[in-house]
Amino acid sequence: MSQKLFLLPGDGIGTEIMAEVEKLIAFLNKNKNTDFFYEKGLVGGSAYDEYGVAISDEDMAKALEADAVIFGAVGGPKWDNVAYDKRPEAGLLRLRKDLGLFANLRPAICYQALADASSLKRELVEGLDILIVRELTGGVYFGEPKEIIELGDNEHGKQQKRAIDTQLYESYEIDRIARVAFDMAIKRNKKLHSADKKNVMISGVLWDEVVREVAKDYQEVEFHHILADNCAMQLVRNPKQFDVIVTDNLFGDILSDAAAMLTGSLGMLPSASLGAIDKKTGKRKALYEPVHGSAPDIAGKNIANPIAMIASFAMALRYSFNMIELADEIENAISGVLDDGLRSGDIMQENCQQVSTSEMGDAIIAKL
Ligand code: NAD
Repeated sequence: MSQKLFLLPGDGIGTEIMAEVEKLIAFLNKNKNTDFFYEKGLVGGSAYDEYGVAISDEDMAKALEADAVIFGAVGGPKWDNVAYDKRPEAGLLRLRKDLGLFANLRPAICYQALADASSLKRELVEGLDILIVRELTGGVYFGEPKEIIELGDNEHGKQQKRAIDTQLYESYEIDRIARVAFDMAIKRNKKLHSADKKNVMISGVLWDEVVREVAKDYQEVEFHHILADNCAMQLVRNPKQFDVIVTDNLFGDILSDAAAMLTGSLGMLPSASLGAIDKKTGKRKALYEPVHGSAPDIAGKNIANPIAMIASFAMALRYSFNMIELADEIENAISGVLDDGLRSGDIMQENCQQVSTSEMGDAIIAKL
């Protein structure tokens, strides 16, 4: 049965790096016994220019039907003054909302050839392979009330205000993200840390209670609780102690950025966002995208690094299609071209050979 992909290249370098994924899909279909079928749509500024919205209803329907959405990047100065609800990012937010993507997966992998590009010592990051699973649709970013209240003047005639954000989680939200994380841990090194602030936050108490309950269903996974602040410290002290870290929206936002930068460049970082299991297909709704944006400063020059995009596609093979070996092969091919000394401009090092976006894509395919 063929696998249905929906490609949304977006804006800026999005189209250039997605072209490398298209080449890769054609290669896999021809040489690796896959049967990927794909359609392409518009999102972000390019959709605004064509349809006056950041994603059209037709393309949204195709995204909902696909087995996986592969997303490039959106945005750019051209659309800076577009109405708020039509701005390029609104396309990505609608995709996340309508696909119900509640789990954000951010791996931090340190390729041996790039270990010296990390801000940490080589021995601390060489061979690093961790996965942060962040809750994406709940918590303090969405909880109500969320407002600024005017309190009137104080005794010096200065106006006072009160700002409120609400950290809110229901047990089902914690249960489902914990299950995604334990499922990942089983496929990896069978170790999971759950990070919260249960020492000072009541939502953390519930978080921990629910995660511990879920842990009982995953006896083969070594489970640890860690306070989120200690987790941040341990990530920069000894990151290789971790395998999978599961945490809420706020802490996940911060911890995943910190973990990502252990490995060097933005152009190397893939991500996945997963939703509920579709009753018809038995598959989770899923969107795969590089962490970086549309890089307008280098767009159209064929110099962007396509590795984050290609590695995001490899995540789709791993998590949406269970093609573990093929995902490994692609990741090894990336590692191989780096070992050969090929570099895009953003990761260029002494004694290496600088290559273009398309040359990097070709080299990865040649390795395969
Ligand atoms: P950015 O990630 O686009 O770029 C930051 C810097 O990293 C730039 O110097 C860029 O050239 C470089 N860079 C990023 N990806 C690269 C790659 N693959 N290869 C080589 N260099 C790379 O972030 P920004 O400059 O803050 O934002 C630019 C636009 O992208 C804005 O409109 C922003 O809103 C948007 N954005 C979109 C997403 C997304 O689509 N998910 C994420 C972040 C930013």
